[in-house]
Amino acid sequence: MWNKRQSLSIKLWFTVIAAIILSFLFAYSLSQYYYKNLYVKKIKTDLVNEATLLGEDYPGGKITEDFVQRVEWFNSKNDSEVFVVNNPRELSACLPFEIDYDTLISEEERQLLLEGHAIEKEGYERRFEKNIVAAVIPLIDEDRLEGIIYTYIPVDSITELLRELAEKWLAAVFLFLIVAIFLMTKWLKKLISPINEIERAVHRVSEGDYNIKLQVESQDEIGRLAQAFNEMAQSVFLEEERKKEFLENVAHELRTPLSYVMGYTQALKDGIVKGEEEKQKYLQLISRETHRLQKLLRDLMELAKLDSEQIVSDSTPIAFAQFIEDVIAKYQPILKEKQIRLQIELDPDPIILGVEGRVEQILHNILDNSIKYTDRVGTISLSLHQRKEECELVINDTGRGIPAVDLPHVMERFYRVNKARSRFDGGSGLGLSIVKKLVDQQKGKIHIESVEQKGTKVRIILPTINDDWKL
Ligand code: ATP
Ligand code: MG
Repeated sequence: MWNKRQSLSIKLWFTVIAAIILSFLFAYSLSQYYYKNLYVKKIKTDLVNEATLLGEDYPGGKITEDFVQRVEWFNSKNDSEVFVVNNPRELSACLPFEIDYDTLISEEERQLLLEGHAIEKEGYERRFEKNIVAAVIPLIDEDRLEGIIYTYIPVDSITELLRELAEKWLAAVFLFLIVAIFLMTKWLKKLISPINEIERAVHRVSEGDYNIKLQVESQDEIGRLAQAFNEMAQSVFLEEERKKEFLENVAHELRTPLSYVMGYTQALKDGIVKGEEEKQKYLQLISRETHRLQKLLRDLMELAKLDSEQIVSDSTPIAFAQFIEDVIAKYQPILKEKQIRLQIELDPDPIILGVEGRVEQILHNILDNSIKYTDRVGTISLSLHQRKEECELVINDTGRGIPAVDLPHVMERFYRVNKARSRFDGGSGLGLSIVKKLVDQQKGKIHIESVEQKGTKVRIILPTINDDWKL
């Protein structure tokens, strides 16, 4: 019955019902025990009181017929049985009942009575052939036990009472159980149904349906489980959406250059293009588009690589200032062509730990933007400073700037401020997202500030290893 597959509600049912029955049994036996004890005790004191009261009427001397009758009269008016017994040793002749004194009272009890004590008795009494509760008080005159008043109640009447009580108890238990079962059913349903709901939701997720939201009302463990499940499903859903969007973007980015290449090639093939100069122009366009495709592919590969690997294994110490100068040298021709002035202020101290190719990629992507988005004539300034255990690289340009609405998004994949213009500029919006990933990998930070038509300032903070290096 109690196997592993048993449903939770059945297990809870058993537990609760068992607990109810056990506590009732316990309460019942306890109450029976106390009731019996207290009740019997009370009867005993009542009997003693009754006998004592009667005993007070005993005037002393021999027990008279008058006194015996008086007790008899009392007996007829009362629930308990009462009678007087003369001391047979003194007066064996005129007994009102045929009662043998000695069978009623033992020698020990006689002694107690003689000392003036009342006696309480409980148990089977041979003389009456009954279980009884009894009280005996002595009638003493001048140290002589003239007789006793004996009063008793058959125990049957007590057990009868207890049985009645038990019956009432049972009825109450039964009623309680019905109410408890009714309430339990409702309560268990409320408790179990969210678990069932979570189970169904989990199945749906495993079938690929991530857009699920469980309705959680309670704040208990189950409620929190549902909440955690919602969060998990939501993040999986978002990740899934992101992937889909990414793929769509990739397809979109590929489509345009490919259609250009196909169009131009077709035109050349069909001989529509006349004249050598025209042909050269078309070939140049094809070359530009294939370059664009190549760059896109390279960036995508880079991103995929950055996504999959976390630990940079082949890092080496890099003297950052020197490294930057070497990179900048490659840009001299294009800077000259676009009439962009370069201002450099490099602190020679910072030494960073990184993979040269990747650090160059960071610089390249940012310088590429600064040059690309400075239309003509302008200044790019580069400064590097050591600050405690990190260094700050600031790249400032006087280019077209980034509108405030776009600024928070420029580091997202495929995000471009001016999509129409970017065909001319040649960007696909991956540059800064790669930079962001690379800087994260270096455990650094990047901030971009920009004012439209004024310029852009990119600040990169990277941890340095100067102290370690000097040791
Ligand atoms: P890619 O770098 O992949 O060739 P991209 O330059 O368009 O393409 P990002 O480098 O990620 O992509 O830059 C995102 C967008 O932010 C750019 O399209 C551009 O609009 C804007 N942006 C970035 N840097 C600057 C800058 N220095 N000045 C003005 N706008 C910038
Ligand atoms: Mg760029």
